[in-house]
Amino acid sequence: MRPLIIIGNWKMNGSLATNQDWVKTVARGMESGMPAGRQFVVCPPFPYLAQCSVLIKEYSLAFLSLGAQDASAHESGAYTGEVAASMLKEMGCTYVIVGHSERRQFHHEVDEVVAAKALQVLDNGMTPVICVGETADERNSGRAEEVVCSQVAKQVNVLQDRLVDCLIAYEPVWAIGTGKVASAQVAQDMHCTIRLQLAEFNDDVASHVGILYGGSVKPDNAVELFAMPDIDGGLVGGASLNPQDFLAICQA
Ligand code: PEP
Repeated sequence: MRPLIIIGNWKMNGSLATNQDWVKTVARGMESGMPAGRQFVVCPPFPYLAQCSVLIKEYSLAFLSLGAQDASAHESGAYTGEVAASMLKEMGCTYVIVGHSERRQFHHEVDEVVAAKALQVLDNGMTPVICVGETADERNSGRAEEVVCSQVAKQVNVLQDRLVDCLIAYEPVWAIGTGKVASAQVAQDMHCTIRLQLAEFNDDVASHVGILYGGSVKPDNAVELFAMPDIDGGLVGGASLNPQDFLAICQA
């Protein structure tokens, strides 16, 4: 049985003061217990990882893990501005998002780079959360499955059996930050397509890999999405900034 995993991606938001309030509010909300069989992760911007790691320990938030929003494809060296996976590990991260559509769009990251990042994350004992998803034009021209399957295929080619230790996040680009959530059925259909594609490679990988949905997840649509058989949780952007909304999604 795959656990339900909810990952909050703060993107480039937060401050020392608001982060403190966020962790305090989430700690209070989680005090009375959380539904069993679930994992929760928060991914602050790099400069706040140390602060959030300390706060999570201070509030004894056993339910909450720390994640990062990206990692370098390189191990170390002359890559100004980049952050190595080994550094994220040292900061207490256990999950790292790679290939987010905003990285693909604004930083021109291609599938080969995404796979190299995922390998760095795996080599450092963390879980890569590999994002895939089609644009509005690709969906409207009937190419959604082709695009997503091609992104997944490139990861399979490089990562092979190590995919079993990864998460995949299906994030239709047209649903990210737009308020336009994919219907639960549209999301389920794509998740099922991805799982069948993984099964063609390896049944064990297909049954173990968690496939999360991302794109305008909110407290009022989370229940329906998470009830779908192939949706194993959510990658939540905007709504994760509000601790009450994040808690409500975690409890959905
Ligand atoms: C995201 O950043 O991965 C995301 C899904 O954003 P939002 O929930 O705001 O659409």
